[in-house]
Amino acid sequence: MADSHQMFINGEWVNSSDGATRDIISPASGAVIASVQEGTAADAEKAIAAAKAAFDSWYDSTPKDRQLALLKLADRIEENAEELVRIEAENVGKPYEVTMSEEIPPIVDNLRFFAGAARTMGASSTGEYMAGFTSMVRREPIGVAGLIAPWNYPLMMAIWKIGPALATGNTIVLKPSELTPLTAIKLAELAADLYPAGVFNVVTGDGMPVGDALVRSKDVGIVSLTGDTGTGKLITKSAADTMKRMHLELGGKAPVIVMEDADVAAAVEWISIAGYFNAGQDCTAACRVLVSNKVYDNLLSDLVPAVEAINVGGPFEADVAVGSVVSKEQQDRVIGFVDRAKEAGAEVLTGGEVIDRDGFYYKPTVVANPAQDSEIIQKEVFGPVVTVQRFKDEDQALAWGNGTDYGLAASVWTRDVGRAMRMARRLQFGCVWVNTHIPLTPEMPHGGYKQSGHGKDMSVYSLEDYTNIKHVMISLD
Ligand code: NAD
Repeated sequence: MADSHQMFINGEWVNSSDGATRDIISPASGAVIASVQEGTAADAEKAIAAAKAAFDSWYDSTPKDRQLALLKLADRIEENAEELVRIEAENVGKPYEVTMSEEIPPIVDNLRFFAGAARTMGASSTGEYMAGFTSMVRREPIGVAGLIAPWNYPLMMAIWKIGPALATGNTIVLKPSELTPLTAIKLAELAADLYPAGVFNVVTGDGMPVGDALVRSKDVGIVSLTGDTGTGKLITKSAADTMKRMHLELGGKAPVIVMEDADVAAAVEWISIAGYFNAGQDCTAACRVLVSNKVYDNLLSDLVPAVEAINVGGPFEADVAVGSVVSKEQQDRVIGFVDRAKEAGAEVLTGGEVIDRDGFYYKPTVVANPAQDSEIIQKEVFGPVVTVQRFKDEDQALAWGNGTDYGLAASVWTRDVGRAMRMARRLQFGCVWVNTHIPLTPEMPHGGYKQSGHGKDMSVYSLEDYTNIKHVMISLD
């Protein structure tokens, strides 16, 4: 029988208000691996009420108190890494070894960064800006933070939200994706005795009703969503009635612009990692390669064998680089995108089909020459699929690179420093890499331009997003 898990509300482990549960399926095998509570709007409201009540005393906590709690949580994640990674690998279909080496260290580091950074927050200096009055700025927590996480990096995205929200003194209600709630539940277990009841709540369940209840509640001061651009648009409308702050980390369609003077071998190496990491289910995936027609043939003749060499397999198989996609629905979505691209005239150079085994796998795929206005260029596939287009000059590369509704991340490959700076300046993305693609560090902001959303994860910019600024003016009489 599969393990059964409760939700964590107001310091207690509870069932959903109507007793409903949901089976959690491992996409690596198609088997049911756990059962979780299917939360209701009433459960979300109960968690919000607990978080609101807890805020009054949590507001009195000092940055030092909050730092210590986050440092302990980081230590516990490290100590429990094997279990967390096993759960995550089964629930999402990720390779165990890759998840252990590539996700746990930055997750732990992220929490440690926020633990310290919250103690260094500054503001403009206190002073007399009007004769007879002293003015100062206070930076305050917003209150209850509703944190809505996606399925692609369930633990990492939860941590990106929890770190700045708790470091700045907010109380939280975390809603993991309905598909991948298991590491969030484990996280609540690890955090349970580190926080007063009500500060740290986890409610499992569907976007509608649980996420929706967070978005609509007047007692939630900020909603932070990492998810699809469509979900971001929808919840922005429902948040309008309560005017809460929205922090939206949405989809991406990252261009990888390879100029004629690039180190093509290095570009190929990074594309074959960053285009397929996490089965391409990454908002910054190197999924949209734009290559100068002068090096187009070179790049493809190296890229196709590199992609064919990627080892796809189950979470606990040896030397696996890429796992399954997250669900049958996602597998069908990827099939549809590639089939329609073929019908529209693009060429599938490798992959382009499912892998015949239990679970939901798709072959690492390269699609050549889709038209700039085609669906596979304009929409997020979120699977192990990389497109390759050839451009004639820098202007066309920039026009095509900027030519989607997304603006999360891009990379430029060139040995010319002036060109790199010129292109980094003109690319409309929240992150531009030069001669690399995908590394992130907690000191630096991560977040979108355009329909990739607004607000920043990581860095002190994120701490600003989770706080309010107050002007206090004092008469000197
Ligand atoms: P999704 O939008 O389907 O779901 C994200 C979360 O929103 C889930 O917890 C879901 O239950 C919840 N939700 C859905 N409908 C809701 C509603 N009406 N009200 C409130 N909550 C609702 O996204 P997903 O499929 O889980 O994740 C993949 C998406 O996330 C991709 O588009 C990807 O690009 C994006 N993503 C972005 C970043 C970034 O940093 N910008 C990082 C990772 C993933």
